[in-house]
Amino acid sequence: MATNTDIYIVGSGIVGCTIAHELAEKGRNVRIWERRNHLGGNLYDYTDEYGIHVHLYGPHIFHTVEKELFDYVSRFCELKEYNLVCGSVIDGKCVPTSFDFSSVDTFFPEEAETIKQHIKLVFGDRPSATVLEMLDCDDPYVRKFANFLYEKDYKPYTAKQWGISPDKVDRQIFKRVPILFSYGSKYFSDPYQAMPIHGYMELINNLLSSDRIQTETGVDALKHFSVEGDRIFLDGVPFEGTLIYTGPMDELFNCCYGKLPYRSLRFEWKHEDIDSLQDMPVVAYPQAEGFTRITEYKKLPCQNVSGTTYAVEYPLPYQKGADQEPYYPVLTEESAALFERYSALAQKIPGLVCCGRLADFKYYNIDSALRRALDVADSLL
Ligand SMILES: Cc1cc2nc3c(=O)[nH]c(=O)nc-3n(C[C@H](O)[C@H](O)[C@H](O)COP(=O)(O)OP(=O)(O)OC[C@H]3O[C@@H](n4cnc5c(N)ncnc54)[C@H](O)[C@@H]3O)c2cc1C
Repeated sequence: MATNTDIYIVGSGIVGCTIAHELAEKGRNVRIWERRNHLGGNLYDYTDEYGIHVHLYGPHIFHTVEKELFDYVSRFCELKEYNLVCGSVIDGKCVPTSFDFSSVDTFFPEEAETIKQHIKLVFGDRPSATVLEMLDCDDPYVRKFANFLYEKDYKPYTAKQWGISPDKVDRQIFKRVPILFSYGSKYFSDPYQAMPIHGYMELINNLLSSDRIQTETGVDALKHFSVEGDRIFLDGVPFEGTLIYTGPMDELFNCCYGKLPYRSLRFEWKHEDIDSLQDMPVVAYPQAEGFTRITEYKKLPCQNVSGTTYAVEYPLPYQKGADQEPYYPVLTEESAALFERYSALAQKIPGLVCCGRLADFKYYNIDSALRRALDVADSLL
């Protein structure tokens, strides 16, 4: 163990690595402990045996409204502007998502013009709405279209993804895939959207390039750190330094109030000697049994290969120790209340900073995780 460590960071995702970089730049010595056998957290990517660049933990596209964050990432890796278009297969037909007017044309060819006119009447100049807003409105044509998408896509997809009834899920979830009142769907609406040309690990490795940063993978930090009352112990000795924790909040406290619900995923990886499996890089299959979506990696930018590698995603509840990762906090009223109890415990402990998608129990995208990391680093400096 390094004796010159000023700050320990648990977790090497974008949050842990960004904080490490910022602190090291200001002369602090940082040690990162990562329990996976590689750095990068969910951003980990690599080129597979067929020459196809894949993201081990699901497709990641960097998108943000903040130019400052875009410029920050550009300092560490070469970005290529890229607008993702996803798809959804409903009744055997693949339409672009976010859903747009092409879904009206595809599924309601007879009434398409009337439905589009009614949408314009109800929503005026608005470019989009959530499916819930459309379901709530009085207009029968708008409701008919929204109900079709809700019953055949949002509802079964959400039930599979979260493992709970859609009416229990935080309503914010439905905002992630709005319905656009135009053609030319894009999955994200942010002005800055890009992919790292050489992969996310270029970003991670460059963030960690300082001699002041030491990293160890395959180490569960909670085998070294423990919390008793409002004290942190490191290998049994009271710890007076700073501990930045980006893992699941309940695990830090030995699940003393019960387990926080996280959702995990099982990825089934396949390679086929065909040119193309599906129309778009990421396609949802809401009506399929068990799996939610398939990512065909050669369709993401900067890949020019024959054959295709794809990953089929099966959601499942997270169980620690079952060779699973806690990818998504399951946001419900009960889980928010439970999280608050853990958060109150954490706030009483001097030197402990909890942040990141797992520790904040928030559905952060890369940009909000990065923003959080920069704010934490600022507050520590
Ligand atoms: C399938 C999927 C697709 C996504 N797609 C996108 C996308 O397209 N665009 C986008 O902007 N965002 C996307 N995201 C979100 C993105 O992955 C997160 O915002 C980001 O990875 C959060 O970074 P983090 O550092 O908070 O967490 P993580 O990347 O999860 O890093 C936390 C790290 O802490 C480690 N850790 C936990 N406990 C311990 C411990 N006890 N000891 C040691 N290490 C520990 C974990 O192993 C992990 O590596 C996606 C997420 C998923 C799951």
